[in-house]
Amino acid sequence: QTLDQYRVFGNPIAHSRSPDIHHIFAHESQQNINYQKQLVDIDGFANAVTDFIKQNGKGANVTVPFKEQALALSDELTERARLAGAVNTLSFVDGKIKGDNTDGEGLVQDLLRNNVKLKNSRILLLGAGGAAKGVILPLLAQQPQSITVANRTFSKAEQLCLQFADPRVTACGFSISADNTFDLIINATSASLSGQLPPIPAQLITPSVVCYDMVYGKTLTPFLVWAKQQGANQVIDGLGMLVGQAAVSFSIWRGVTPAVEPVISALRHALEVEA
Ligand code: NDP
Repeated sequence: QTLDQYRVFGNPIAHSRSPDIHHIFAHESQQNINYQKQLVDIDGFANAVTDFIKQNGKGANVTVPFKEQALALSDELTERARLAGAVNTLSFVDGKIKGDNTDGEGLVQDLLRNNVKLKNSRILLLGAGGAAKGVILPLLAQQPQSITVANRTFSKAEQLCLQFADPRVTACGFSISADNTFDLIINATSASLSGQLPPIPAQLITPSVVCYDMVYGKTLTPFLVWAKQQGANQVIDGLGMLVGQAAVSFSIWRGVTPAVEPVISALRHALEVEA
């Protein structure tokens, strides 16, 4: 029996953990799959997908910088992918390319797994790039009281909110009045990647506010280190979101929902060993 083939396309791609994650899922759920990472030339995304379909590929994950191109290439889109303006999961079914975006669901599942209450919560979402956009619809499905989108470039936050046209989603700049209270602050900026902090007032960080950073690494991100220093009791990095989005992709392709806990623990351990 030949194995069903899957890929993750990106540039760069060398550090992607997706093949490991999907092979553990496959092993645990007794699915026979082969999943490889593929470095794609900056102008070669559509060809890479077409070639893979010719080779009888079943599905693919898409990462930086091809998520918008994946959206454009899709014959069918889920609502969450359309609103995210980006596709991270492709399925090749009956001659059609189906595009979905599982990042937001991965985040929501990770928050719920960490016992973060989302219903009626006041959420501050930092950033207005692809990642921020992608999580809004899945977060709204959890019935929060409000989602305030704060971005360095205010006009991008404004535009994003207009697109959702939901009274619960509003925009602001980083100079948020300290009179505001939030239950959850999600850092969806890439500031942590360059060792920087989104400059929000320290007064927003109280012991009860949960702070989440979509970035993860060998050590706690600058935002989470800062939030802890300001007294936040619960800080969570994006490793669980990474594994969560992979689990949703896997279940789209295979019809089986894999367990995420063992994979998160294994990756956490691997990161600590590397540190
Ligand atoms: P984009 O490039 O689309 O957006 C970047 C965002 O970060 C913009 O809002 C930008 O603001 C802001 N930003 C960048 N640098 C700074 C800074 N120094 N201070 C304040 N704001 C800053 O990136 P994505 O939205 O695709 O990704 C954001 C992050 O989320 C990345 O670090 C990525 O690794 C992570 N991510 C993690 C996932 C996971 O599974 N854990 C999944 C997806 C993403 P401006 O508009 O003003 O430029």
